[in-house]
Amino acid sequence: MAKGFASTGDLAEKKVTFEELAAGVYAYTTEGDPNTGVIVGRDSVMVVDAMATPVMAEQFIAKIRTVTDLPIVHLVLTHYHAVRVLGASAYKAPYQIGHENMRELVAERGQQDWESETGRFPRLFRNAESIPGLTWPNVTYADNLTFYLGDREVQLRWLGHGHTKGDTAIFLPKERVLFSGDLVEAGATPYTGDGYIQDWMETLERVRALRAEALVPGRGDAVRGAKVDEAISSTKEFLTILRDNVAESVRQQETLKQAFDRAHAALTPQFGNWPIFEHCMPFDVSRMYDELNGLEPRIWTAKRDREMWAALQD
Ligand SMILES: [Zn+2]
Repeated sequence: MAKGFASTGDLAEKKVTFEELAAGVYAYTTEGDPNTGVIVGRDSVMVVDAMATPVMAEQFIAKIRTVTDLPIVHLVLTHYHAVRVLGASAYKAPYQIGHENMRELVAERGQQDWESETGRFPRLFRNAESIPGLTWPNVTYADNLTFYLGDREVQLRWLGHGHTKGDTAIFLPKERVLFSGDLVEAGATPYTGDGYIQDWMETLERVRALRAEALVPGRGDAVRGAKVDEAISSTKEFLTILRDNVAESVRQQETLKQAFDRAHAALTPQFGNWPIFEHCMPFDVSRMYDELNGLEPRIWTAKRDREMWAALQD
């Protein structure tokens, strides 16, 4: 049976949970849709990720205004994906911060990613006409960048190649709260279409070494305690099974379609019920196959998305 392209068939609104993880530190999670976060400082607010459109961001800002009237000064962008950054203008934050590789990706492929993601996730791009243009970070960093919002310390950490080459993890060392972006998912499918999948597995060990006590994943519920480690482990396990099966296909000189069928069969029992599993699988296998053939992540365009989907998923 033909499967509808990407997330075009997913039109049911998700339930929002706005949860305080430590005093003044909030997760805004949405049953598997991209998560965002809020860190309230002494004089200002830092927001983690922007949502896909300014109109959708307004809903999130309304939630922020139920807990603080302080100005939003810092908007941290965990990575360049359109669904997380194109709502940025709504916050009017003077500082939009991302890793230097993130800015490079916006320049190189931000426009194509915008068009590609709009096609994949129509529900997440409600009021797409409100997007004024690409979102550029106006502050970048290379390894670490630390903010002191009054006496609240917030560390921005680049931990290596992973979901993209420019992922920022946001860590509060005193509260031990971590916003991982899409480096870690909690019961939601990792998307690896722009990933460095084998490097990502090692990067996850550096994420684990932060020993966070609460985690806001890229997608899925915020988790605490032992579930933080479980989320990191299950993300890594998904990547490992993906890698092992596609590697077996490459070893046997199978086609991309055969690699897809092999990896899909191997991952379905454990992960088939995770949000966006069917959406991600063709992209994930395509990227893994490329990586094992020595290629850097190629640019996804709306056209390439559809051609690949037709070849693998339908
Ligand atoms: Zn992403």
